[in-house]
Amino acid sequence: MRKIQAADMAAPSGVCPPWCTAINHLNDDVHQGAPIQLTVPGDETGTYDDGEPYALLWAALVCRDGQPPRIYLDALGDASGGGTRLDVAGVDAVLADLRLYADRLQQMRNHLAQITEGEQ
Ligand SMILES: [Zn+2]
Repeated sequence: MRKIQAADMAAPSGVCPPWCTAINHLNDDVHQGAPIQLTVPGDETGTYDDGEPYALLWAALVCRDGQPPRIYLDALGDASGGGTRLDVAGVDAVLADLRLYADRLQQMRNHLAQITEGEQ
């Protein structure tokens, strides 16, 4: 169970920052910008999610009244709470890791293409 913090008890200000795109949140004090999501093609065997496209990552600018804005990055791809709130340095670290990951994925893809040549 989530620990109730002092900020949870604060009355919502009712004033959204200019980047807030959340609607109907008059009774809570958490603001959110437009989210982005990384979705990948479904598993070709249909083993996972019946082969439907799969959400991997989700991110949005967020803040609770009285706290600094952060980027919430959700590793479950759906803002369900499997993530972390990041400041600029934290986002920079994630971006560096994503670039390295993309480079390694490209290398892996090239290897796959090499060993499956003729299957495609
Ligand atoms: Zn808002």
